[in-house]
Amino acid sequence: MTISTFLDQLNNTLPDLTIKTDKDSLDNWGKDWTKHFDPNASAILFPKSTEEVAQIVRLANEYKIHLVPSGGRTGLSAGAVAAFGEVVVSFDKMNAIGTFYEADRMVEVEAGVVTKALQEFAESKDLYYAVDFASSGSSQIGGNIGTNAGGIKVIRYGMTRNQILGLTVVTGKGDVLELNGGMLKNATGYDFRHLFIGAEGTLGFVTKALIKLEKQPVNLTAMVLGVPDFNAVVRLLDKFGKALHLTAFEFFDQIAVDKVIQAGHTKAPFDSQTPFYVLLEFEAVSDEVLDTAMSVFESCAEAGLIVDGVMSQSVGQLHELWKLRESISETISVFTPYKNDVSVLISYLGDFIADIETIVKDNYPDFEICWFGHIGDGNLHLNILKPEHLSKEEFFEKCQVVNQYVFETVKKYKGSISAEHGVGMTKKPYLDYTRSPVEIEYMKAVKAVFDPNGIMNAGKIFD
Ligand SMILES: Cc1cc2nc3c(=O)[nH]c(=O)nc-3n(C[C@H](O)[C@H](O)[C@H](O)COP(=O)(O)OP(=O)(O)OC[C@H]3O[C@@H](n4cnc5c(N)ncnc54)[C@H](O)[C@@H]3O)c2cc1C
Repeated sequence: MTISTFLDQLNNTLPDLTIKTDKDSLDNWGKDWTKHFDPNASAILFPKSTEEVAQIVRLANEYKIHLVPSGGRTGLSAGAVAAFGEVVVSFDKMNAIGTFYEADRMVEVEAGVVTKALQEFAESKDLYYAVDFASSGSSQIGGNIGTNAGGIKVIRYGMTRNQILGLTVVTGKGDVLELNGGMLKNATGYDFRHLFIGAEGTLGFVTKALIKLEKQPVNLTAMVLGVPDFNAVVRLLDKFGKALHLTAFEFFDQIAVDKVIQAGHTKAPFDSQTPFYVLLEFEAVSDEVLDTAMSVFESCAEAGLIVDGVMSQSVGQLHELWKLRESISETISVFTPYKNDVSVLISYLGDFIADIETIVKDNYPDFEICWFGHIGDGNLHLNILKPEHLSKEEFFEKCQVVNQYVFETVKKYKGSISAEHGVGMTKKPYLDYTRSPVEIEYMKAVKAVFDPNGIMNAGKIFD
């Protein structure tokens, strides 16, 4: 059965459904932020309701059409890429913010609501949506749920999973399920909500979510610290983590700072240049807390863990300091970076990073490496930047050879080959470094229950 017959049928069943098949749209909605695969979608659909999504899925099952769920397409694992003639289902037209449950501090949103729009809605209610990262202006709630996105506030509030109190989903069979209904307590058997979080659209579509909102943080204050080595980063995490209730603990290297400054995003935090930097944030709820922060700073400086530092004195300065960290991904994207997004227990961080440093020195002597990450969550982003003289293909090939050493080290420390970006297609070949063969078989069995015809995001996570 051809795609065109499927689209004709869809037209008959849902005459108001927007369907795009022009080349620009296929290229635009057929890809995400990654550059590994060329988009090759057959059509892009823009449903406006859960019922329309369900109709699409039922028809796709009839005609055995492969569907790719698509959010803001900021994904970093090619999870939303349609490279094999699939039909993309975009949530761009399902972006309504629905009922606000004030007493529950919860709001219902459609999957296509942009992260920043939810943050602003929460703020308008004097509340806070705690998932935040540099792509929040484009990423959608459905995509965040698909990848169980993390970001810069995980150390305090947890991943996207922690904010989801209920979901409406359309399974790969076309059934509509209302999962958990927003309740904090519901001990009635399997909680399928959690299966759909982080499933990367392989079990079905998320169409709505009930989201928990938090109290607004008070007087957020950031410190940027120049530090001499990795070991100091890990020790500072311990020292500041014990003394303060941190809302963020990030790190980046001098190369990242240089690139961000060269791109004009912000200026250097202080005169000294150091191999690594820590950006930590806390709620300065009282002078006592500020005094504590200063005394930890001083004792760490005396111990040689800090070379230089600065603390924000206003909201403007806070935002300026955050630009050092939040502009990195966008700035280095012009260098076609090969991204690793790995994590280990904080307890293993010191040894793990020492091993990774050796691998990098031995295997990438000629490549520029940019380190940054949510180190307070044990999450490291290792970015290898493409030299101009290499083609994209040659470069990725070289990086993939070294991958096995990096991932063997991740395995040695029982860590994750994808901390927060998902598996998609880019990390699919390495899944068994983190998940056992038996576990992967269980995952495939679960998929077969929700998506028996294998139409949902086929070829993502596993084959
Ligand atoms: C500059 C930059 C910074 C970033 N920083 C971070 C960070 O700090 N932390 C982090 O975790 N990520 C980060 N990311 C990655 C990315 O922004 C997140 O993964 C984000 O949650 C993806 O959302 P999206 O709407 O763009 O999803 P997409 O890329 O469109 O899709 C992601 C996955 O979800 C699936 N999906 C999309 N919508 C649905 C739906 N309605 N139902 C079911 N499945 C669906 C897709 O099929 C795909 O598998 C960053 C990306 C960029 C470009």
